[in-house]
Amino acid sequence: MNNPSCKHWGIDIGGTTTILGYLANDSFKTVSTIQTIPSEGPEKLLTRICRIISNIDNSPRSIGAGIAGLVDRKNGILIYSPNLLNWVHFPLQEKLSDTFRCPAVIDNDSNTFAIQAIDSGEITSDGLVLLITLGTGIGGTIVHNGTILYGTGYAGEFGHMTVNASGEACPCGSHGCWERYASAEALVRYFKRTGSDSENADAKKIARLAEAGNETALKAFEEFGEWVGVGLANLSHCLSPSKIFLAGGLVKTFNLFIEHARNEFNRRCPYEWNVSALSSCSDAGAEGAAIMGRVSFQ
Ligand SMILES: [Zn+2]
Repeated sequence: MNNPSCKHWGIDIGGTTTILGYLANDSFKTVSTIQTIPSEGPEKLLTRICRIISNIDNSPRSIGAGIAGLVDRKNGILIYSPNLLNWVHFPLQEKLSDTFRCPAVIDNDSNTFAIQAIDSGEITSDGLVLLITLGTGIGGTIVHNGTILYGTGYAGEFGHMTVNASGEACPCGSHGCWERYASAEALVRYFKRTGSDSENADAKKIARLAEAGNETALKAFEEFGEWVGVGLANLSHCLSPSKIFLAGGLVKTFNLFIEHARNEFNRRCPYEWNVSALSSCSDAGAEGAAIMGRVSFQ
């Protein structure tokens, strides 16, 4: 049997992309970004991940994975993911451990982003801080004095906070969830509502158009920003955070929506606006997952 390498691998499985990399000597190296294909199911994605990692490291020290969805950390099971519809009660931790013959640990992807931000010092160890990931869906993490709060295990599922009681149906089974109004899919919906030549629009294309001054795209970001503000006001009423960080794919478009979010926030609550984009890059979730493995299996 091979001796374990010194590499702690981290995987960030998002609704659209999956990022892989490893920590060695305290620095993180991103190895690959691949497409997540929700309809192919978890086993095929694991096969693709395995192929990439095995080409570089045939005996990882540990594997950590962050995944967009409801994660039972204690038992290492992905209970469900609204954006990965075939992944139900999937024993991800055991599958990773069996596949790579090394210890594995899993968590929600927003939490792995937070682990990286705590490790880098961007989320400081005092006060109550919220991290919100805006992307295919919305993820969230509550950090208190440098420690992630889990409640009974699932705290921070802000994306499924109801913001419109009779609103859009959500794959989670509820209606009017925040992520139906402030996610990439919602942005596309606002843009397409106007018809025209928007058949293949995605968030990136809409952002490019908005930056070029396209009125329809700017209007879509305005509506998106207002819904971001609605959710941030709700969370501030409930938790009174000292700081809110935004992360995830849509944070690249921060400047296109944040003033609309701020105006809506100020209309709905009296608290100080202290919201900024997390400066860490898009592979922070994978790095946080690797750090989680290093901390668990040093
Ligand atoms: Zn929902």
